[in-house]
Amino acid sequence: GETMLELRKIHKMYKNGNMYIMALRDINVTFKSGEFVCILGPSGGGKTTLLNIIGGLDYYTQNDLFVSGESLTGYRRSDLIIDGKSTKLFNDQDWDLYRSERVGFIFQNFNLLPNISVLDNVMLALTLGGESIESAKEKAIQALKEVGLDNFIEKKSYQLSTGQKQRVAIARAIVKNPDIILADEPTGALDPESRIEVMELIKRLAKDRLVIIVTHNQDLAYQYADRIVKLEDG
Ligand code: ADP
Repeated sequence: GETMLELRKIHKMYKNGNMYIMALRDINVTFKSGEFVCILGPSGGGKTTLLNIIGGLDYYTQNDLFVSGESLTGYRRSDLIIDGKSTKLFNDQDWDLYRSERVGFIFQNFNLLPNISVLDNVMLALTLGGESIESAKEKAIQALKEVGLDNFIEKKSYQLSTGQKQRVAIARAIVKNPDIILADEPTGALDPESRIEVMELIKRLAKDRLVIIVTHNQDLAYQYADRIVKLEDG
C-alpha cells in the first residue's frame, strides 16, 4: 500500500504538577494503507498517547525540548505527515475533517449510549454531522450487516453482550467508510471467545484500510498483525 501516515521525531511530554513525564521520545514510524499494525507494549509505555496523536485527538509536544542545554527534539523537525502533507499546515477545520471523515475510532469500553437502540448508536455518527435520517439509516444498517448485527438493530445497547457491544462500536467506526481505523485495546474488556471474533472482524477491515490497534496482549498481536510496532517506555 501507499504511505498514509508518517511520524517524524515525535515527542510527547506531560506535565504533572511540577513533574514532567516523557511519554514519547523521538518516535519515527510509517504506516501504509492495507496494513494491520499492532502497537504492542507494557502499560504506561505510551501506546494510547501515540494513538491519540495519530488520530488527531492530542498534539505532540511542539516546542524544542532542552536538557542540559542540548535539544532533544532536533530543532523543530518533528512532524506528523498525512498523505504526504505536513500537519503543520493544518488549521482547526483540517483537523476536524481528518478526525471526522478519515478516521474511525474504537475504544476498550465501547463508548456507546446504553439507553438508545443499536441502530441509533450507529446513526448518531452520521446525523450529528448533519446527514439526513434516511441516508444515515441506510448506511447504519449496512454497517451493522457488515458486523453481523443486522438482527439486533432495535435492541438497546445495554441489552447486548460485551462482544456484541464492541461490534456495534465497530459498525459506528466504519459507517462513514474511513480509510484509517484506530483501536485502543479493543479486546481489553472481552472474554476470550469474543476477543477472537472481534480480532477477526478488525482484521477483515484492514483489507482496504489502514488499521492500527494498541494492545498489551502479545498473543493476539502475533496472531493477527501484519506488523508489530513495539513501544517501551516511550
Ligand atoms: P499506555 O497506553 O501504553 O498504557 P499511556 O500513553 O497511557 O501508556 O501513558 C504513557 C505515560 O504518560 C504514562 O506514564 C502515563 O502515566 C502518562 N500520561 C498519560 N496521559 C497523561 C496525562 N493526561 N497527564 C499526565 N500524564 C499522562
